[in-house]
Amino acid sequence: EKLGLNEIREKFLSFFETKAHLRLKSASLVPEKDKSLLLINSGMAPLKPFFTGQETPPNKRVTTCQKCIRTPDIERVGKTARHGTFFEMLGNFSFGDYFKEDAIAWAWEFCTKWLELPEDRLWVTIYQDDDEAFEIWNEKIGVAPEKIVRMGKEDNFWEIGLGPCGPCSEIYFDRGEKYSCGKPTCKFGCDCDRYIEFWNLVFTQFDKDEEGNYNRLANPNIDTGMGLERMSAIMQEVDNIFEVDTIKYTLEYICSLAGVEYGMDEKTDVSIRVITDHIRSVTFMVSDGVLPSNEGRGYVLRRLLRRGARHGKLLGLKGAFLSKVSKKVIELYHNAYPELKEKEEYIENIIDIEEERFEETLEQGLEKLQEYIELMGDSDTLSGEAAFKLYDTYGFPLDLTKDILEEQGLKVDEYSFANEMELQRERARTARGDNEAEGWKEDIYSKLDKDVKTDFVGYDKLTVHSII
Ligand code: ATP
Ligand code: MG
Ligand code: MG
Ligand code: MG
Repeated sequence: EKLGLNEIREKFLSFFETKAHLRLKSASLVPEKDKSLLLINSGMAPLKPFFTGQETPPNKRVTTCQKCIRTPDIERVGKTARHGTFFEMLGNFSFGDYFKEDAIAWAWEFCTKWLELPEDRLWVTIYQDDDEAFEIWNEKIGVAPEKIVRMGKEDNFWEIGLGPCGPCSEIYFDRGEKYSCGKPTCKFGCDCDRYIEFWNLVFTQFDKDEEGNYNRLANPNIDTGMGLERMSAIMQEVDNIFEVDTIKYTLEYICSLAGVEYGMDEKTDVSIRVITDHIRSVTFMVSDGVLPSNEGRGYVLRRLLRRGARHGKLLGLKGAFLSKVSKKVIELYHNAYPELKEKEEYIENIIDIEEERFEETLEQGLEKLQEYIELMGDSDTLSGEAAFKLYDTYGFPLDLTKDILEEQGLKVDEYSFANEMELQRERARTARGDNEAEGWKEDIYSKLDKDVKTDFVGYDKLTVHSII
């Protein structure tokens, strides 16, 4: 009997409880204090104040399963086996308590004893200069030197902007020949889905300041992140994270709505996986109080929702359908995340309004884009002006336009698109007669507030108010 996603989550958290960790619940996707971050993208992000010493943690050892959003991965979603814009990151954290030796030993114990992963399929990477990590892996754990790969700063030194950072060590699973891309050059380190990275152990020993100095922390910390979906895909021996139990029920539901079969055609499969992914992000973001808008995290939400809606069209779905799929996600996740159930109706309403609004311009926008493509002739690049017109008139976020073009081997002049955007911002500022960069906020929020009041009478406990 294969372990389910919920069981793996529980196993991880209870393993670290046996190592004296305090289990904390996932923080909201909306960062509470951190202005440098749009959305929580790792288990460590909401715990930053404990790492920097700004706040005292409730315990020196903590374990969590954190909801994460990573839109920078959006173009890989559905195409690789391992990327989602939404995923759950399991982690164990030490705030100046245990360090490298224990972190490595426990990670290994969990993988090989609790999950019973075969040792000969595991590989590890370390930061090129981290001899200490090499020694622990090799001498203490017994990993063969040829399976301890030294990597550069890009991969094995962890930092996001300022704050806590340090070298890291990652654990990979070799899924075997059948997952190889088949290129003669395919070996460990290949970007294909054979060797899957699933756990990152960060040895946080520095604090990066505004001048770019790496200051040694008085007490080094541990921050680890293991992708729950990836580990589940490995344990369940399925092709990709969308075929894992729980997630696959969303996928199957989409297939039944659209009357399509999964696994018959790669293009269709990509659309099915993209919708499965984007609706998860959308559902969790709305439940954490994000509302669609043209700026900031509201725009991240809008982009994901509209991109998902468009892939529905590719599957032949007519009209708005995303809120139905969202209901499915809630059904599958409300035990782990009770906030979903509490806000079920609210989430459905927000998604419906946004998708229906987009429905009004989606078809025409698609036609317009097709016209532009025909006018492109031999060029493979759509002008920024055209992409901006699609954005401004038809509500096409840039990544939606890019996604459509990419299917036809085409691209957008992103530089001139950015220029058009900047020009529009200036026009708006001039029209308002102010110079405040933040001026847009009022407009959007007062509009949202109005939407909420007119459309959701009776929903006055809305979390909207907490972000206004
Ligand atoms: P990759 O190189 O595969 O993009 P990463 O190095 O960016 O992953 P980390 O920042 O090290 O990922 O995050 C820790 C763990 O979180 C990863 O080892 C992986 O298990 C998981 N993870 C990261 N990004 C994603 C994603 N987009 N979807 C699902 N799981 C992810
Ligand atoms: Mg990544
Ligand atoms: Mg990586
Ligand atoms: Mg990594």
